Amino acid sequence: MKILIVEDEAGIADFLGRGLRAEGYDVEVAGDGEAGARLALDPEVDLVLLDRMLPGVDGIEVLARVRRVRPALPVIMLTARGEVADRIEGLDSGATDYVTKPFAFDELLARVRAQLRSAASETSLEAADIRLDLIGRTAQRDGETTELPRREADLLAYLMRNEGHVCTREELLSAVWGYDHDPGTNIVQVYVGYLRRKLARPGSPAPIETLRSVGYRLREPR
Ligand code: CA
Repeated sequence: MKILIVEDEAGIADFLGRGLRAEGYDVEVAGDGEAGARLALDPEVDLVLLDRMLPGVDGIEVLARVRRVRPALPVIMLTARGEVADRIEGLDSGATDYVTKPFAFDELLARVRAQLRSAASETSLEAADIRLDLIGRTAQRDGETTELPRREADLLAYLMRNEGHVCTREELLSAVWGYDHDPGTNIVQVYVGYLRRKLARPGSPAPIETLRSVGYRLREPR
């Protein structure tokens, strides 16, 4: 298991790195947000310890960049004591957990283990009346199983994780295709069309709604 530490204070990065290596983890350290955001995209990285306060590109921005490409990567944010607003902001912006500085190493380690465990156990998703197998990339609906190519499975997983919420076209473009700009194509519409056809069952259209000029929403079928 590989852990990326994004921390500008060398003393803290060093202390964390030594402790985690002693527990058998592979550790990489990024000293600023720019490097952190880049290194976190390496598929070998299983978890990120992310300092909230970084010079230049700060923790929240690093997280936003990482989330566009790796929505399910466990990220534990390290925040200063008492910065309640920061903690809420961290969780709102997609951190999976946070630890307040100063912290006991054992507490951090427990949280690292918990995050890695729950990430490893996520092999399927259930939302609306769909079950998606993330390993085999198959979707099950009304007892019928459909295989999905990677992008379609990623798109469906994103809609399922946000069940009941409207996902905008821009959000889907960045989460599934990694675009940080609008490429001016109708690719999202096309892929939603593929999913709808594959998930439709006799008398029961796929439960993906279009909200005109806003986006798409997965919801319980009526
Ligand atoms: Ca810092």
